[in-house]
Amino acid sequence: MSDHPSTAPAAPGDQPADALSLVALDGVLPFSERHLGLRPDDVTHMLSHLGYESIDALMDAAVPGGIRTADSLDLPSPLSEAAASAELRALAASNRPAESLIGLGYHGTVTPPVIRRNVLEDPAWYTAYTPYQPEISQGRLEALLNFQTMIGDLTGLPTANASLLDEGTAAAEAMTLVRRANRKASGPFVVDADALPQTIDVVRTRAEAMGIEVVVADLTTGLPDGELCGVLVQYPGASGRILDPAPLMAAAHERNALGVVAADLLALTLLEAPGELGADVVVGSSQRFGVPLFYGGPHAGFMSVAKGLERHLPGRLVGVSVDSEGRPAYRLTLQTREQHIRRDKATSNICTAQVLLAVVASMYAVYHGPEGLRAIAQRTHRYAAAIATALRAGGLEVEHAEFFDTLSVRVPGKAGDIVAQARSLGLHLRLVDEDRVGLSTSETTTGSTVHSVMRAFGLEADLGRVDAATGAALPEALRRTTPFLTHEVFSSHHSETQMLRYLRRLSARDYALDRGMIPLGSCTMKLNATSEMEPISLPGFADLHPFAPAEDALGYRRLVNDLEGWLAAVTGYDRVSIQPNAGSQGELAGLLAIRGYHASRRAEGDPVRDVCLIPSSAHGTNAASAVMAGMRVVVVKASEDGSVDLDDLRAQCEAHSEDLAAIMVTYPSTHGAFEDGITELCEVVHSHGGQVYVDGANLNALLGYAKPGEFGGDVSHLNLHKTFCIPHGGGGPGVGPVAVREHLAPFLPSHAAHPEVEKRAGVGPISAAPYGSAGILPISWAYVRMMGAEGLTTATSHAVLSANYIASRLDEHFPVLYRGHSGLVAHECILDLREITKTSGVSVDDVAKRLVDYGFHAPTMSFPVAGTLMVEPTESEDLGEIERFIAAMIAVKGEIDRVVAGEWTPEESPLRRAPHTSRVLVGEWDRPYSREEGVFPTGIDPDKYWPPVGRIDQAYGDRNLVCSCPSPEAFAE
Ligand SMILES: *Cc1c(COP(=O)(O)O)cnc(C)c1O
Repeated sequence: MSDHPSTAPAAPGDQPADALSLVALDGVLPFSERHLGLRPDDVTHMLSHLGYESIDALMDAAVPGGIRTADSLDLPSPLSEAAASAELRALAASNRPAESLIGLGYHGTVTPPVIRRNVLEDPAWYTAYTPYQPEISQGRLEALLNFQTMIGDLTGLPTANASLLDEGTAAAEAMTLVRRANRKASGPFVVDADALPQTIDVVRTRAEAMGIEVVVADLTTGLPDGELCGVLVQYPGASGRILDPAPLMAAAHERNALGVVAADLLALTLLEAPGELGADVVVGSSQRFGVPLFYGGPHAGFMSVAKGLERHLPGRLVGVSVDSEGRPAYRLTLQTREQHIRRDKATSNICTAQVLLAVVASMYAVYHGPEGLRAIAQRTHRYAAAIATALRAGGLEVEHAEFFDTLSVRVPGKAGDIVAQARSLGLHLRLVDEDRVGLSTSETTTGSTVHSVMRAFGLEADLGRVDAATGAALPEALRRTTPFLTHEVFSSHHSETQMLRYLRRLSARDYALDRGMIPLGSCTMKLNATSEMEPISLPGFADLHPFAPAEDALGYRRLVNDLEGWLAAVTGYDRVSIQPNAGSQGELAGLLAIRGYHASRRAEGDPVRDVCLIPSSAHGTNAASAVMAGMRVVVVKASEDGSVDLDDLRAQCEAHSEDLAAIMVTYPSTHGAFEDGITELCEVVHSHGGQVYVDGANLNALLGYAKPGEFGGDVSHLNLHKTFCIPHGGGGPGVGPVAVREHLAPFLPSHAAHPEVEKRAGVGPISAAPYGSAGILPISWAYVRMMGAEGLTTATSHAVLSANYIASRLDEHFPVLYRGHSGLVAHECILDLREITKTSGVSVDDVAKRLVDYGFHAPTMSFPVAGTLMVEPTESEDLGEIERFIAAMIAVKGEIDRVVAGEWTPEESPLRRAPHTSRVLVGEWDRPYSREEGVFPTGIDPDKYWPPVGRIDQAYGDRNLVCSCPSPEAFAE
């Protein structure tokens, strides 16, 4: 146990007997022993294979001395799983969710327990990766296709994407979509003054950076005069008012502009679909379809578009194609369209989205079906109508005669008192201004809610009498007549047994971390421990509204303070904001901070600093984010060894000395190497007045050994869904905190409803909620709290050890492309297949698909170098699994050799025919290898993972775009 001296049993007689027993008990099972896959003997074995005496010697050799941090991490000493769980319970208990009627895009909802336990809390769903390897992702792809079908049906538009980050960012994406899809129109983007306030602010933040003019206007009397490129109408509005979008859409079209509707999904079960009313784009949030409030997120935003706009859709799109046996199969469609891959040509930077939450929302619709959803909406509406009747009977003015679930009540001068009175009764109402109180009913509203609301207003109500006196308050002309959720999947799983089996059937099709290693380079697919996951379901964390009074969110406040403080400590920065809800959003927030800083220092007549240098090997989101921050991208070359070419860097800095804003570098680089030149790179950029943005996606190679804020970075984003254990969820959620040095702190994201008063004014929000995806922060909090300084440092060293072990074992079979300091790699390594492909005709695709037959998820394909595989084992994998992977790779190489030797043509080889489904075991067999070699390449294995479909034809699906549930006939034999 040399790695963990504190866990070594003390020799009897060292200490008094009673103290000894307690120390020993407390240290029996430190969490780090559960998180780390390697045992001490494994470490010794791997080190000796690499020729290093100790893990310290390996790390001394791997990490350049110039960037090494002097001190160990300043973190509290680690807690056991039980103790951390107790602390988190206490934190959750110091939040007071109350019953929230605040609304504004966040509503009470019941997560059906069968969905909570078997999706949200089930590692088969939450530990999956983004479905880039579709053959092993059919379950979540089907769930996402259900989501797209649900959104398309409810909004009345043909094509919906597989989720966006939240409603505010979805509206901002709609604005930029409108601008590029509609080159005919110039002029501002007009936003409904009755839109959700946070939506208006997120749109403004984005627009400001991109130089788009935004006009917020009262749309009750129509569009404002003059040119416009598009208009966004909230349906129903934040005040509860329901404006008919049709005349506004028509007026916009007349002026060559496009129409966007931000809609409430539950309302759409009763109100006519915006697509039927002329909308070109519909956005919103699917939170109230069974996703907990989570103090603001994670929730799945959505977007659907009219015909002709599909190719402008941001985010991912699931489509139907066919597999090698001609049967329908799902996969991400138009993948080259995925915006961040297009770098500086990109129109959106979204990468990680909200897959897990989209799955939950889609399953809520599958479970309730169209009738069930309509019933929930009718109840919700009925309660709002009853409250309106009772308030009016009590002499109060309710502002709008027609509404769905939201009321605006006039109480001149008394709003504050009423909201306070409500709070004392266990209700959170919305303080609109001193004269108005807002409230929204929801699925969780009951008769007792009505009584409490009345008491808050100083009234009494007899529910029976009120009910009898209440009619519907929906606008007659806008009642929904268009059917929705007519596909049979939405009427086939309404009993719990059916639902359970459907969920199980889908998750069983997928390969997630619960089945084996996912060695995806740059993605850090490490353990998502159950003790980290459990707290997110505690009501104190799950049921709090993001705009609840700060004094009712004290637990979250402490959790966020702790986490921001710890993240600052481990990165060497001064301040952290956890608001960005994905890495891409952290990038944008960081660049906006740089932008704000330069603007604040600009003297009259100075050129604008807007050039962002980006090395050629950078992740695509970097360039996309720079464009969205209003910067010009200039690419810096890589030298022969893959590192940033410092001569080219110097030349570019000279050329842009006047207008250099920043460089974005990933460290260690996306090539998986610790580069020596990083310190010099930072100095050169600084000397030309630029800021250094260190992309922290690879922090798993640095924690405890080097701090970006110390070795030259001014700002970084981290990916809590990589280094800090938030599960990938099949493509989201994520959290992308932005960390800055002091001089950039004034330019961190703000939010008008921030619980910390000093963070209300500033550059504006990057996410709809003040703390972004607050609900999953307990995961990272628990990880840091249970690992402590030593555990995190050990994790880094084990990640680096395992990557180097794999590199060393596989190099003779698949050459390792880049190495850094001392000829070592960092926490991942790139295997170069280009030469192999040239001589054998076997591609990286073939190897990736063949690995499925061996029971593996493929490594990252063709990033950052085409024709390569990037392997990242992480510290959580045990040596047995690592050896199984190495053996599989060597066996695959053996198969390639047989192709080279002429035994098989590439086309007839088991590599090209992979993956093999169970169907190849029956029927005719005409292949030049045996069935056994096809399906059981390592011998008969009763626990084998069976892919449900064969190799999927990508091109077919792109040519024949189908992005909603196919009819059952498509699956007929
Ligand atoms: C994952 C990654 C990102 C993007 O993060 P998301 O959370 O997916 O938006 C950016 N840069 C690098 C190097 C990454 O690996």
